Amino acid sequence: MVIVMSEHASEDQVEKVIAALTQKGYDAHRSTGSTRTVIGVVGTSRTPLDPREFEIMPGVQEVVKITEPYKLAGRTFQQEDTVIRLGDVAIGGRNIVMMAGPCAVESEKQLDIIASSVRRYGARILRGGAFKPRTSPYAFQGLGEEGLGHLRKVADRHGLLVITEVMDTNQVDLVAAHSDILQVGARNMQNFNLLKELGRQRKPVMLKRGLSATIQEWLLSAEYIMAGGNRDVMLCERGIRTFENFTRNTMDISAIPIIKKLSHLPIIADPSHGTGLRDKVIPMARAAVAAGADGIMVEVHHEPEAALSDGPQSIYPEQFAELMAQLRIIAPAIGRTI
Ligand code: PEP
Ligand code: MN
Repeated sequence: MVIVMSEHASEDQVEKVIAALTQKGYDAHRSTGSTRTVIGVVGTSRTPLDPREFEIMPGVQEVVKITEPYKLAGRTFQQEDTVIRLGDVAIGGRNIVMMAGPCAVESEKQLDIIASSVRRYGARILRGGAFKPRTSPYAFQGLGEEGLGHLRKVADRHGLLVITEVMDTNQVDLVAAHSDILQVGARNMQNFNLLKELGRQRKPVMLKRGLSATIQEWLLSAEYIMAGGNRDVMLCERGIRTFENFTRNTMDISAIPIIKKLSHLPIIADPSHGTGLRDKVIPMARAAVAAGADGIMVEVHHEPEAALSDGPQSIYPEQFAELMAQLRIIAPAIGRTI
């Protein structure tokens, strides 16, 4: 942290700032320029520094943070990209990974039809909710444990990996027993008890961005999982809430290169929840790949009109095939494979 004093700051004000830092156990390096004084803060202390405490002190013009608060998720202490390996699937490497499947697991048959087609067209990971975080308590809540069983069985039959959401700390062991990747939904991004529990797991976690979360809040949530000892975290941009209501959410494509710059963690894009509209899913998936996403999560249903959840944003299997064909053209243009 660097504290920049204002041009007219008095000697007394400078000394008060230095005294406050020393009192908290930090070293203050003073540099007195011709017009203003700058104080560099170094060292570590048990007392965390809140920049706002210094911002409000008389004579202080600006407090500049030099390092990010997310130490494990940030690039400062790990420059190279994290690559999460699951069998022969690597997430975060040169290859772009496709995760596809229905919003919710509805039956073994439904899942089997969808899994066989997405596998044929190039998906490696089967998605599908067994525990569904629905906005309305009257909406389909998912098949629960039965749905997890269908996911495992169908994925194994087709040579796919499983990703599914875990909503609560008391479901973590159960979901981990059936799934290869544990998904944290947008609504749970700041469920810190859940994040801590996932930090104790040895399975990769995909952390979706909260509905109104800033990028810093999102990375700090990833930090919770990593600080618990689980370093296999990937992030997922799934749209954020803005004033625009034409789409269900506003797909923040810019978050992809921002995350790539700030963090070494893989970034996945979910244009299904990001837009909520079937005909917008393919263009946004193309944009996400072009922007540097390491993978795409997309909802696919063979009968979206009859889907128990998110039918309007689910693409048909043939559209998934079309998307794959287009991504196979875009990927090499940016030095990636798919
Ligand atoms: C999902 O992917 O099934 C889901 C519920 O998404 P989100 O948490 O992003 O709303
Ligand atoms: Mn959904």
